[in-house]
Order: sequence, then C-alpha cells, then structure tokens
Amino acid sequence: MSTAMARVPDSLRGQIVTPGDRRYAQLRSTYTRSASPAAVLLPKTTAQVVDALRYAREQRLPIAVRSGGHGLSGASSNNGGVVIDLSMLNRVQVIDERAGLVRVESGARWANVAKALAPYGLVISSGDYGGVGVGGLATGGGVGWLVRAHGLTIDRVRAVEVVLADGTLVRADADHEPELFWLVRGAGAGAGIVVAFEIEAVEQRNVGVAQLVVEAQPDGRTVREWTSYLAQAPRELSAAAVVYSEGRSVLMSITAVVAAESLRRARPAVEPLLAIGKVLEHRTDLLPYPTLVPAAHLNPNVGQQRGTTTNGLFTTLDDAGARAVTRAVTGPGRAVVQLRSLGGAVNDVAHDATAYPHRHQDTPRCFRRRPTPR
Ligand SMILES: Cc1cc2nc3c(=O)[nH]c(=O)nc-3n(C[C@H](O)[C@H](O)[C@H](O)COP(=O)(O)OP(=O)(O)OC[C@H]3O[C@@H](n4cnc5c(N)ncnc54)[C@H](O)[C@@H]3O)c2cc1C
Repeated sequence: MSTAMARVPDSLRGQIVTPGDRRYAQLRSTYTRSASPAAVLLPKTTAQVVDALRYAREQRLPIAVRSGGHGLSGASSNNGGVVIDLSMLNRVQVIDERAGLVRVESGARWANVAKALAPYGLVISSGDYGGVGVGGLATGGGVGWLVRAHGLTIDRVRAVEVVLADGTLVRADADHEPELFWLVRGAGAGAGIVVAFEIEAVEQRNVGVAQLVVEAQPDGRTVREWTSYLAQAPRELSAAAVVYSEGRSVLMSITAVVAAESLRRARPAVEPLLAIGKVLEHRTDLLPYPTLVPAAHLNPNVGQQRGTTTNGLFTTLDDAGARAVTRAVTGPGRAVVQLRSLGGAVNDVAHDATAYPHRHQDTPRCFRRRPTPR
C-alpha cells in the first residue's frame, strides 16, 4: 500500500488510515464483522468524497462505503480493499425551522441527530439504536420508534446529494433526477455515495415509553395477541418485542412508544398490551425522544455483534406464524426474535412511490441466532 499512498490526493493527506496506524483498530471493522481493509479513507467534505472515490477507483481494489458501520451484512468494510468511511462528514443543520427541514450528512449517527434537533422540538424517526448511521438507514428504509406515526425515515426524505460512481455530484428530489431520488429511498446502497439528505422532521419533544416483560405462552398465543393488538392500535403507538427463552420460560421484552406529549394521552394506547399475558415487569414514563437513541450507543465498531441475523416481513402474523416464532425461540437454535410494528403511516405511501415496496405488511421480524460461544 505504500506506493499507492504516495498518490493519495493532497486534499486527503492525514485522512487515510492503513494497517499500522493507531486509528486502524477502530476503523477496520463494522458492528457485525471483523475485517482487514488495505486502507480506510476519511473524507470530511463532499469534495473530499469525490477525491476519495477517484483515488479508491485508481487502486483497482474492492470499494466499500460506510456511514455508521451498523449494516447487518457487514458490507461497509472488506478485506484487502478500500473503505470510504463518512464518519467525519457528519453535520446536522436545521435549514428551515418552520418547515422542519433538516440537512443531515451521511456520517452522522442517529444519537447525534436526535441531540441536535431536540432544542428545536424536532424529531426524525430513525431506528432503535443511536449508533446506527444516517447513510445506511436513510437509504434502506428506517423502522423506528415513531414509524407508525410518521412513516419510515425514507418517507420524509425530500432531497439527496449523491456522488455517482464517475465522481459527478447530483442533487435529486421529486422534480430533479426523480429516478435517482426514487432509487435512493429504499435501495440507495450501490446507487452512488449519498453525502447528505434533506429530511422533513416532525414536531415532537417527548414520547410515552412503556417497557414491560411478559411471560409468553409456549403455543404462540401471546405473540398472536401482541400482533392482533398492534394491527388495530392507534398509529401513535409503535412497538418492538424481543422474544427469547430463559430456562423453560418464553419471555417477551416489549418497548412501546407513543407519539404523545403527556402520559395521560400515552397510557390508553399502552394499556391493552398489559393484558396479552402475565406481566412480570412494567413501567410507563414520559421521556424526551433522545433518551431512546442515546449517546451511550456511540461505541466504536469492532465486530462486536457477530451472530447470524436475518430479516423478514409478515403481511399479518397469524396463529401458525406466531407458533413458528415461538418455536424458533424454544427450538434447538434458541433464536432471539425481535418483532417490530409496521402499518400506520408506512402504509399510506404507494408501494411504487419509492424503491421500498413493502407497504402492506404489518410486522417485520428479525431473527438473531445466538452467537456461537468462542
Ligand atoms: C444494533 C442495531 C440496531 C438496528 N436497529 C434498526 C432499527 O431500529 N430500524 C432499522 O430500520 N434498522 C435497524 N438496524 C439496521 C440498520 O438500520 C441498517 O443496517 C443500516 O443500513 C445501518 O446504517 P449504517 O450507516 O450504520 O450502516 P453501514 O454499515 O455504514 O452501511 C450499510 C449499507 O449501506 C451502504 N451505505 C452506507 N452509507 C451509504 C451512503 N452514504 N451512500 C450509499 N450507500 C451507503 C453501505 O455500503 C452498506 O451496504 C439496526 C442495526 C443494528 C446493528
């Protein structure tokens, strides 16, 4: 790599990290994968992204693009190639406070976005984890704590700035480059390097947050009750349930978030969940939105979550589906299954309006096999 380093553009001097550099250990891997790239480039500006892409192409090595490094596939690093890491391109700017319009650079993490918007009383629904990056989530979908109230993250993207493979910078919105704009909202990884998004944030300071642990019936009945309630719950409610086994019991750890500014308004949406099974723990609080995606999530990525994860969507989770989920948890693999709520505002968007077509399903689920002990 030393010959290649000699040709690093002046604009990127000091912003290339190769094996042996003390920064390499914290930049080589992703959250789900340990990797050994030949070099990691750290552009801070759009112009530097263009330079980094040109330089990376000249090396004729595989190129990976990384924002937050939380992609489940681990595609944002590689072995022996060049990684363009956008973590230093991370500004968050409110560009029109009255319209709630925010420009967010791809390398920002959602914890930082929530913190920057809180003083304005604005929120962008992102995901359940503050360490996830803007670039991967806002090009893929974005199933967050306010998803049923306000839609996917991509549903509120109003414009994108993209560096294409040939180094051209394009701004795309509904009227300019509409096909690129369509593609980036759902299938953006690979469309180019999205350097920034303009997103319409919503007014929200606090949310009602219920956290409960419920003992679930092994025949799937409790999972079915959860999903039946979510199918007809008010759209202000979004929820996630982690289903897992502990000893001989099946437990559901549920977080339910209500887009409401008072406990009085939040509680009625949560109460039916208290009746789905034997409640072992429960509390409901009114919390500022950033507490759901806190700065405590901002850890370096060192391949720390190496289990096998798969995602899927249920149109509706019927009795057989609920039994299958429960069996996956108690079966030999003892999977951990996370169920998330969809519907509501997500399904207001036409299936062909963006490259994310899944507009009739109610429940995504995420299976995570327990990592093999080493
Ligand atoms: C702990 C954890 C919690 C999660 N919670 C949620 C959740 O609640 N809701 C949800 O919807 N998802 C969730 N996810 C999934 C996550 O949103 C996606 O994997 C997302 O792609 C991660 O974004 P990133 O920028 O951190 O990822 P990265 O690993 O940096 O990138 C992921 C993919 O997007 C591409 N990419 C990244 N940035 C850009 C860019 N600027 N331009 C073009 N392509 C780019 C990468 O090349 C890679 O293929 C979670 C993942 C983890 C590990």
